[in-house]
Amino acid sequence: MQLDSKVPAGPLEKKWDRHRFELKLINPANKRKFDIIVVGTGLAGASASATLAELGYNVKTFCIQDSPRRAHSIAAQGGINAAKNYPGDGDSIWRLFYDTIKGGDFRAREANVYRLAQISNHIIDQCVAQGVPFAREYGGLLANRSFGGAQVSRTFYARGQTGQQLLLGAYGALMRQVHAGKVQLFPRHEMLDLVLVDGNARGIVTRDLISGRVESHAAHAVVLATGGYGNIYFLSTNGNSGNVTATWRAYKKGAFFANPSFVQIHPTCIPVHGTYQSKLTLMSESLRNDGRVWVPKNPGDKRAPNDIPDSERDYYLERKYPSFGNLVPRDVASRNAKAVCDEGRGVGPTGYAVYLDFRDAIKRDGREVIRKKYGNLFQMYERITGEDPYETPMMIYPAVHYVMGGLWVDYNLMSTIPGLFVLGEANFSDHGANRLGASALMQGLADGYFIIPYTIGGYLAGTLLSDVKEDHPAFKEAEKAVAEKISRLLSIKGRRTVNDFHRELGRLLWNNCGMSRNDADMQEAKKKIPQLREEFWENVTVPGTPGEFNQVLEKAGRVADFLEFAELMVEDALQRRESCGCHFNEAYQTEDNEALRNDETCCYVSTWQFNGDGKEPTFHEEPLVFENVELIQRSYK
Ligand SMILES: Cc1cc2nc3c(=O)[nH]c(=O)nc-3n(C[C@H](O)[C@H](O)[C@H](O)COP(=O)(O)OP(=O)(O)OC[C@H]3O[C@@H](n4cnc5c(N)ncnc54)[C@H](O)[C@@H]3O)c2cc1C
Repeated sequence: MQLDSKVPAGPLEKKWDRHRFELKLINPANKRKFDIIVVGTGLAGASASATLAELGYNVKTFCIQDSPRRAHSIAAQGGINAAKNYPGDGDSIWRLFYDTIKGGDFRAREANVYRLAQISNHIIDQCVAQGVPFAREYGGLLANRSFGGAQVSRTFYARGQTGQQLLLGAYGALMRQVHAGKVQLFPRHEMLDLVLVDGNARGIVTRDLISGRVESHAAHAVVLATGGYGNIYFLSTNGNSGNVTATWRAYKKGAFFANPSFVQIHPTCIPVHGTYQSKLTLMSESLRNDGRVWVPKNPGDKRAPNDIPDSERDYYLERKYPSFGNLVPRDVASRNAKAVCDEGRGVGPTGYAVYLDFRDAIKRDGREVIRKKYGNLFQMYERITGEDPYETPMMIYPAVHYVMGGLWVDYNLMSTIPGLFVLGEANFSDHGANRLGASALMQGLADGYFIIPYTIGGYLAGTLLSDVKEDHPAFKEAEKAVAEKISRLLSIKGRRTVNDFHRELGRLLWNNCGMSRNDADMQEAKKKIPQLREEFWENVTVPGTPGEFNQVLEKAGRVADFLEFAELMVEDALQRRESCGCHFNEAYQTEDNEALRNDETCCYVSTWQFNGDGKEPTFHEEPLVFENVELIQRSYK
């Protein structure tokens, strides 16, 4: 099967304009005849719901938290990119496009990434108009800082709370539409299945997480903005509610999954400190603007950091990558941290940590300047570790943070199921094999505010859809399947907790398909995952009943989906015979331990089609064609 990316013809800079002109329109009076379901209220979902409702569509919006404001986007710290070039340091739309495509190791679609760079500037205008309190320079212009993989300052920020402030902006816009009666909000509702009628996505089945009621909701199109699945590793920087359920169940209904093994490891997280920890905390990459990363030169040096003189410190990123220094991209910084720890030069009680040191920045700029830039991050670090980072360097180590894989979408953000659109971290697009910092927020908001409003109109205007309501047999069938799965989970009454299975799966994936991978480990994971899944379905314990608030039951469903999805992740990682960005297979590396791509045979998006439980999925490639950039070995030296 040939995947049609629907990328418009013509020069790169003109594609989006031309496409918008060519998309069919729906007149304003007719928009109110269409119902759209949006699942997810993070930046992608909230911005999409607000904008679609503002256009006149009837929107039903779902999320699993008690309020849209608690979507995971709230946790984003460092910032959002845009090519405004306020500092006058050489930025442009083209440079943002180029940095992003290179940062992703040339495994993303050119046209999508260019569009993202173009839209980035509109996002900032929109958010400022909503009142998002971005940091400003003394003259009133918005301030910028740098992030990894760029030599210009293009990251807009609101201290270390950028996601929170952006989400409050989108949430305000969403709630305005709730009050206007154009958005019906369903918090604490989990999507558990997608419903197709005549091959088109026509609705969803949800469980009301308070009453346990299983319900159907019909619409003319469905938008998934359900975030990423990094939580599959158990320990990650993601919120605990992160899951793959919505996209996995859509996959089982025919949506192709793309690049499932592309997982980003973030270099600056507070290291693991105990077996029963449930989460890892990110220290924003923006800290690497001023913090210097180092380890002792000599293995086993157990002296306190402030007792180690400069001559005995190895500022390894500055030494190896003089051009980018501490601001190398995340994959490069993560692998280098692992390498120095593997050499026995790691610090802290476990030896799996490196220092992020602000001594020189404080000496240069003063404590107050540093506090203004990063105060809440320093406070967070101190609350968690009990150490004052103004006095002692922070200890950091890489952790799972973000996923570049997700449901495959075309240029219109539509999956392989007509009428099913996928936005934000839930889709695979734009970041290739590695996401540069501050570009996930950019992508989620570009998708929600500026792409879906056009492309969904094109779909609805160009498709004949029959009248479908919740009493259609397809809904009844899906409701029955959902209810059966729930009863099955409750009937097992085994001896191991859901968390126990999740923790074991996470450890297996981290060790065998994590920061760096090799075929033997991955083959072992491929064998062990089905065994763990089998044991889960025989020995998990889920207390309570289906008709009540039951958080263990919720989690059990999500872990059951992780246990299936994990196998696809490993399969995908094995299939890619190269290293690219965060997908690092030890068999493919340069002499300098950098990822060694194979552009001859692997320049594609890998996509997977479901064939039924217990059957091998079918692999399809979307070849990536680069007409505007030259594929080079990434170098940050
Ligand atoms: C700690 C941290 C810091 C970060 N900092 C930055 C940063 O500085 N800059 C940057 O660009 N990126 C950052 N990122 C990445 C970025 O925050 C995320 O990629 C982005 O916010 C994802 O937005 P989203 O709208 O796609 O999904 P989310 O914000 O994850 O929202 C998902 C939504 O889907 C809902 N949902 C999920 N499953 C279901 C279901 N089955 N049924 C119903 N609803 C469901 C949830 O309730 C939620 O509303 C950071 C990530 C982390 C973990």
